[in-house]
Amino acid sequence: MTLLGACRYGEDLLESAGVPEAGLNAWLLLEYVSGCIRSHYLAYPEEELPKEAEEHYLEVLKRRSERVPLQYITGVQEFMGHRFLVNEQVLIPRQDTEILVEEVLKYLKPGMHFLDLCTGSGCILLSLLLGCPGAVGMGTDLSPGALETAKRNQELLEQEALLQESDLFDQIEGVFDVIVSNPPYIKSGDIPELMEEVRMFEPLSALDGHEDGLYFYRRIVKESPAYLKAGGGLYLEIGYDQGDSVSELLRDRGFCRIEVIKDLAGLDRVVKGIYPGKI
Ligand code: GLN
Repeated sequence: MTLLGACRYGEDLLESAGVPEAGLNAWLLLEYVSGCIRSHYLAYPEEELPKEAEEHYLEVLKRRSERVPLQYITGVQEFMGHRFLVNEQVLIPRQDTEILVEEVLKYLKPGMHFLDLCTGSGCILLSLLLGCPGAVGMGTDLSPGALETAKRNQELLEQEALLQESDLFDQIEGVFDVIVSNPPYIKSGDIPELMEEVRMFEPLSALDGHEDGLYFYRRIVKESPAYLKAGGGLYLEIGYDQGDSVSELLRDRGFCRIEVIKDLAGLDRVVKGIYPGKI
């Protein structure tokens, strides 16, 4: 099989399996198994794919045609310019979540302590530490498999971070300058409508925000004042239609300077608020 033949074969196979962006996926899988870069592929399309790479390619194409997300096959996803290891224990970091990280980075200063609830791969926690050297970060997750992945990412990115298995604040002590979270926020009833890649392979516990999607926001907003310094900030990623309801939760709990921030598509994506302290 030539490089060009492999790409065409892969595209057809993925196309007929209903995989979105079949051509791009075929190329990325070919790149993954062969290590061939795009300019080499374009210059030498008739080059033979080594036998071993071909076997590997057919194997990964099969997995992708079963709708396993590309990132679980290649094992990596870039986020905030850093490479994160991912696997089926963690949600694949989304570009939209970079808005949340950038918003926190505007506020975070060296020496500040922050807490990342539902850390998953650790993408938020570690990107904040990389973006603000000298900040002190702690990440929590309910899932030991997720924490294991976050730990590997922490080692690869050479960051110091505390990782704690905890159901939100259950095992947490101390107060923080910032609490950040991208909790599960999809309504249970909407889960069957998700793309197959998400619905069948990403961890349900990282997606499901219970009946109205707000379960974790209610718990986080209710408990966070006990873990925030006076003047500390709470930063939450939200779904496009949750700006009003999550802002209201913050208002009812005494937060001030509440703002909803939009993503690049112009949709509500982050809610932030300041806890003024006990009055
Ligand atoms: N914090 C992780 C992320 O943003 C995981 C989020 C989650 O599991 N809901 O990707």
